This record gives sequence, structure tokens and C-alpha cells, in this order.
Amino acid sequence: MMEIKTLSCVVRGPKDVGVMEQSINYDESSKEQTLVKITRGGICGSDLHYYQYGKVGNYEIKHPMILGHEVIGTVVKTNAPDLYVGQKVAINPSKPCLTCKYCLSGDTNQCETMRFFGSAMYNPHVDGGFTQYKVVDNSQCIDYPQDVSDDIMAFAEPLAVTIHAAKQAGDLAGKRVFVSGVGPIGCLAVAAIKASGAKEIVVSDLSRRCLDLALEMGATKALNAKDDFSEYMAHKGEFDVSFEASGHPSSIERCLAVTKARGTIIQIGMGGAIPEFPIMTLIAKEICLKGSFRFIEEFNTSVEWLSSGKVNPLPLLSATFPYTELEKALIIAGDKDNISKVQLSFE
Ligand SMILES: [Zn+2]
Ligand SMILES: [Zn+2]
Repeated sequence: MMEIKTLSCVVRGPKDVGVMEQSINYDESSKEQTLVKITRGGICGSDLHYYQYGKVGNYEIKHPMILGHEVIGTVVKTNAPDLYVGQKVAINPSKPCLTCKYCLSGDTNQCETMRFFGSAMYNPHVDGGFTQYKVVDNSQCIDYPQDVSDDIMAFAEPLAVTIHAAKQAGDLAGKRVFVSGVGPIGCLAVAAIKASGAKEIVVSDLSRRCLDLALEMGATKALNAKDDFSEYMAHKGEFDVSFEASGHPSSIERCLAVTKARGTIIQIGMGGAIPEFPIMTLIAKEICLKGSFRFIEEFNTSVEWLSSGKVNPLPLLSATFPYTELEKALIIAGDKDNISKVQLSFE
């Protein structure tokens, strides 16, 4: 058994984070596990929530946990036949049990005992990827062309989330689509929807900066959320599919208003309870409202799309900080008016 010292970005509670030295073990004879050196990691909304509130929804930090699930790295030690030392790999942060009823039916993202990086859903929590060294399953290491840059490939996880969401809507080829809320996830959704063949992608947000980014990512028209939407509410709504990516009650209401009868709404934005959900609109227009959570094989699709340049995520990268400046990076990442994605560098 090999013992490795690693500096990790840890959250202990609200506004309580730090870089801590830890030690991890790697069994050099292991046929299942690989030791990777993390190179880059993107800060996600959930990391920010753990920092700001010590919880995401009702998943509360009960003991120190390493943050981060959007990471890539380099293989340091492995016995896997298809991996080699020095290889750059995208790291799939999900580890489903593969034996529960959901896993057996292929819905591994719904695994009853999912071990997902940097999540306080279960106690003990699952440590994340914002650390210098990490032991992962061989199957979590995804190969990609070695000349693809770190700042691009560190988008593999959030792009996978949006490809899964796009897939929930069925065939998007030739469709008219609305995306409400174009922060980093909404913008990546625009790219995934475009890559899936949608004809028209209208986006809405309160921030001009976010709207401009959405146009760069493939939106065909950008509207301020305060603009007049009556044109899209005519004929019981104009869009075949809407994606709600903000989690705000007013945005969900907007989606219900502009989606045509028998259309589909995909909910990606996380939010709390909606006090007055317009349930009559949902019923009368026979709208299909579907949630979308994480991803399954879309992680591999995402790695492919980033590798081939089918999706270029770089307009969304606002800043990169060394991991030793964790708290500063989290504070900057929380400045939604001026900042999209922030990455941590572990080099
Ligand atoms: Zn994320
Ligand atoms: Zn399972």
C-alpha cells in the first residue's frame, strides 16, 4: 500500500473552506483503481452553495468534505490495460453501484447509492476532485486526444449534464426551442441543443453579458427576461421545447406560457418550492414537464464533442486561479454579474 500526501480544497461549513494536507492510500497491485494527479477543475454552482450556505438544498455538510466534481487529470499509477502513465484523462465523477434496480435498467444516474464526487447527499459524504492526487476507478478515467487543452476538457462534466438534458426532450432536429436562464449551464445547454439540430434557439436572461455569451454559444435570438414575450405566447405558445435553467419561479412560469400545447419543458435549474405553480396551464396545454439530473453515457459524448470542437466552451471561461487561492476563486465565482465559469489549476 502506497501512502500519498495530497493538498485538498475542503469545505467545513458556511464560509468555511481551506486547503488541507491529507493522506490517501493507493494499492499498487490494484486491478480496478488508478492514481491520478488532478490538473484542472471547474467550480460549479453546487460547490458555491456548499461554500456560501454549507449545503445544497437539504444536503448539509456534516464533516469536512473535498469540493469539486468537474475535474481532469493525468495518470500517475495504473494497471489498467487501456490506460498509461502520463496520459491525460477526463474524470467521470459518478460511481454508481451497478447492482440496484436503476443501475440494472441502465439508469445509472438514478442509482440508489450513487457515489458522486463532492456530494453531501450521503453521510459520510463523498469527497470531490479538488485535490492534488486522487484514487479513482479505472472506468472513471476517460481518454481523449492529448492535444486538447485543459481549459476545454475541464468542461466535460457540465456539458454532459446539458447533453443529458437535451436528450430528455427527444429529437430536437428542426425544433423551435426556448432556454430560460443562460448562466454557464444554460449556455452549455444552448450549445448541446444546437449540436442536436434545433432550428431556432431563443434565450432569455436578465443579464446582457449572459445573453451575449448565449448568442456566442449558438442562440439565434436573445431577449431580456423583462422584454415583451406576447409574440411567443400567441397560439397557446410557440416553442416545441423549453429548457428552464435558472430555477426561478417566474422563469418556470414563463416556460409554461411560451411552450406550445403538448410541448415539453425540461427542468435543469435547481430551485426551491414554487408557491403558486400554474398547474392549470400545465393541465390545459397538456405540457410534459420533465426533470433532468446529471448524466449517463453522455459524459463520453461530451468528451467527444469537446475533443472534436463540436462544442467550444471557452467563451464561458472567465478566470483560472491556483487551487491554493480557493476562497478567492469561490468569491469571484459567486460574482454572477461579471463572471461565468471559474477554474482551479492544480499544476
Ligand atoms: Zn457541476
Ligand atoms: Zn445503483
